[in-house]
Amino acid sequence: MAEDPIVVWSQCLDIIKEMIPRQTYETWFTKTRGGSISQDVFTIQVPNQFFADWLEEHYIERIRQVLLRQLGREVMITFGIKEESKPPAQPPTRPTGYVAPPRPSGQKKPVGLENLYDDYTFDNFVVGDGNQLAHAASLAVVDSPGKSTFNPLVIYGGVGLGKTHLAQAIAQQSIRQGTVERIRYVSSEQFTQEFIHSIQEKKTKEFDQTYRNVDMLIVDDIQFFCRGNRDRTQEVFFYTFDALRQNGKQIVLTSDRIPQELSGLEERLISRFNWGLLADIRPPDYETRVAILQKKAEKDGLSINTEVISFIADQITSNIRELEGAVLSLLAHASLYRCDITTEVAREVLRKSFKRQQKEIGIEELQEAVAKHYGLSVELLSAKTRRAEVAQARQIAMYMCRQVTREALKKIGSRFGGRDHTTVIHACQAVEEMIDRDPSFQGVLDQILKSA
Ligand code: ADP
Ligand code: MG
Repeated sequence: MAEDPIVVWSQCLDIIKEMIPRQTYETWFTKTRGGSISQDVFTIQVPNQFFADWLEEHYIERIRQVLLRQLGREVMITFGIKEESKPPAQPPTRPTGYVAPPRPSGQKKPVGLENLYDDYTFDNFVVGDGNQLAHAASLAVVDSPGKSTFNPLVIYGGVGLGKTHLAQAIAQQSIRQGTVERIRYVSSEQFTQEFIHSIQEKKTKEFDQTYRNVDMLIVDDIQFFCRGNRDRTQEVFFYTFDALRQNGKQIVLTSDRIPQELSGLEERLISRFNWGLLADIRPPDYETRVAILQKKAEKDGLSINTEVISFIADQITSNIRELEGAVLSLLAHASLYRCDITTEVAREVLRKSFKRQQKEIGIEELQEAVAKHYGLSVELLSAKTRRAEVAQARQIAMYMCRQVTREALKKIGSRFGGRDHTTVIHACQAVEEMIDRDPSFQGVLDQILKSA
């Protein structure tokens, strides 16, 4: 029987719905439809490019798995933009970008608002050590756009640290406050594509018009201007930049590196960026990570206890997108297996999904952590002595090695003074009994693990 893409996709949606937070599902999936299907390719219809990018970036793995499960074969996934969902008043040569009308009128969203992610607001942005400057500068730009101290505002920093979030918050807040009328928000990729398109269609004048007729231009991820041979794009960007700035229009840019290090970017652009403010975003400290996780859980209406939150904040240190990913994985796990999210569950899930990012904890690290906790020397754990306190610490260390590293019993035994694998089994049983008798003992073990 021929496969019907609409039916297949709606079955997939039923599964996906169970895996992710309701709000996330409603935001990103309810507007999707099965587009077409062939032996090798499945096309998902989405309302616009932004949806396609977002799904691609955040959910492609999950979609792939679910499709594999439904179809019983691997397919390539592509996204199709639904024609009818494009604003009818907009000419087809302007498929992307964001142009706000003078004011949001009544309940209706401004044209093109779907290109901005509703959640990327200042309200949802947690301010911490690493992003204070970028945040403050962003607010300043909203309050007085076009002031030369912050023009351009260049926000730079590593991946997943909130650059896009801030850039979009500037757009949303500026509209809300009415400090500017026309905003255009694009990625440098979109800018490039539109420029190329305008050349092909012989509409470069219109392109210039579109980009110069705004009060605020936000270009996300300018590092892509350095890709391949984009001299002409850089040139047109340069002239756009100058025209806007001369007219006191605000420019906001984001980059994954400090512009000086963007090899392939024109010198004259780099020097112009220095006219404004370069604000960096650094990875969040522990407190900020906890605050972000709390905010995220609260927003999605989840109850994750503080112990689990601090566990995640401890494990995932570099990147906010991964913090969010951890929360989503936990949710998926909890809803699939209908269990509460305990630290144990969190450890298990994170071990699976974030293997690479996790600190590598091996036998040696665990032995050191246990020895330190009990005020013993590491050597004693491997020594022949049967002194009660040493024997117990040794058992705990063996148990933890087994739990955390999943090494073979034999190997663990050998690393404790050449002991037998049955000794390790015995140790594990003994510690399990201790936990049974006194569940709070698990807390001690967690503490030791944290210090490893
Ligand atoms: P970047 O553009 O720097 O790669 P994003 O802006 O896409 O990073 O941020 C990644 C994710 O982390 C987004 O979902 C964003 O909402 C979230 N995020 C980043 N910084 C913060 C913050 N300070 N507070 C709350 N959420 C944040
Ligand atoms: Mg980004």
